Amino acid sequence: MGYSGHIKGILQRELSAIEQAGIFKKERFIHSVQSADIEVEFPAGSSLKRVINMCSNNYLGLSSHPEVIEAAHRGLDHRGYGMSSVRFICGTQDIHRELEQKVTEFLGTEDTVLFPSCMDANTGVFEAFMTAEDVMISDRLVHASIVDGMRLCPAIHDTFKHSNMEHLESKLELHSDKRIKVVITDGVFSMDGDTARLDEMVTLCEKYDALLFVDESHSSGFIGKTGRGTHEKCGVFGKIDIITTTFGKALGGASGGCVSGRREIVEMCRQKARPYLFSNTMAPVVVSGVLKVFDILSRSTERRDKLEKNAAYWRKGLEEAGLILQPGDTPIVPVMLFNASLAQKFSIDLFGEGIYAIGFFFPVVAKGAARIRTQISAGHETHHLDKALEAFRKVGKKYDILGKTKQEIIDQYGL
Ligand SMILES: *Cc1c(COP(=O)(O)O)cnc(C)c1O
Repeated sequence: MGYSGHIKGILQRELSAIEQAGIFKKERFIHSVQSADIEVEFPAGSSLKRVINMCSNNYLGLSSHPEVIEAAHRGLDHRGYGMSSVRFICGTQDIHRELEQKVTEFLGTEDTVLFPSCMDANTGVFEAFMTAEDVMISDRLVHASIVDGMRLCPAIHDTFKHSNMEHLESKLELHSDKRIKVVITDGVFSMDGDTARLDEMVTLCEKYDALLFVDESHSSGFIGKTGRGTHEKCGVFGKIDIITTTFGKALGGASGGCVSGRREIVEMCRQKARPYLFSNTMAPVVVSGVLKVFDILSRSTERRDKLEKNAAYWRKGLEEAGLILQPGDTPIVPVMLFNASLAQKFSIDLFGEGIYAIGFFFPVVAKGAARIRTQISAGHETHHLDKALEAFRKVGKKYDILGKTKQEIIDQYGL
């Protein structure tokens, strides 16, 4: 029992400092399935409230799709609940391999290996094939899981300014003597909803003999004409060396991730990636659900088309209301409030109006860049979006920020 009053005191002071800064994260308990309409208990112990969900990664509305649920039930009946093993001992079923092949075809790569999550894919992939002779050159806004993966890898790490191709080129020149060079980016950036310039990155990588790594967690299933991802949108399908993505967002929303790409790199992951070797992979019930998701996507582009329409409608409505948005054309639509505590209060008032949307602030985004990140789904109908727009107008008016410039909001609330 080393948990002395001394240690307890240190941690309690730290926690109350977080609370006083107005950035203490409290979970809201959902009592229904995940969808556009959900039943939420918040604050803890209060009665249930029906609200519109404006902040899930359920982009295609497949998280509770009846066919996916049925497929998951079938998977449970035919392949059981758990594997009680990692892949290379006795944890590989036929359906794991089947899903890997489906993903390979969908993403236009050579091979795929599943991981328990995309976080695990990103923490395992670099260390699996790079050494201290190599270099990782990453966009400065890549996802936290990539940052952790790079920390675990002995290769040299360098960065380029967000989406700045001149800066990237200068770094490729600087590191031209390294054995393996990997340029690392998100396809769609999760906090701002902007898209990487993959066409230009492919050209640069060819010129400097570098590999291109893209995390497609916020793209797979809906970005590009047939939803293959950012590479499809940018006209470089089939040209990405390493793609990681998650099954925990648009592709069913349960869990799981993968590394997909050049055959030898995927094989190195099977041989050496630590989250692959030392952690159980996706459960059979989840694999069965994801297989059904790919079936649904191969039938039609109806869902991603509806999502695109919904996102355009939502963006236009918020702009007309006089709110400041991050520019972009993806279903991630951040409403900028700049001040962390304002973002927190705004979110709570939206909840009062029946709208569930969360405030984001440091350390998830930069200091002074606090926001409400809204995310649109194919599960939203126009009446959901209209009700949510009404709530944003009402709360925006209460805080007197409609039609205001960034500077005016900062003058009023501080950073
Ligand atoms: C969500 C996310 C991940 C993590 O995915 P999980 O499968 O939930 O671990 C990784 N990278 C990016 C860019 C993400 O947005």
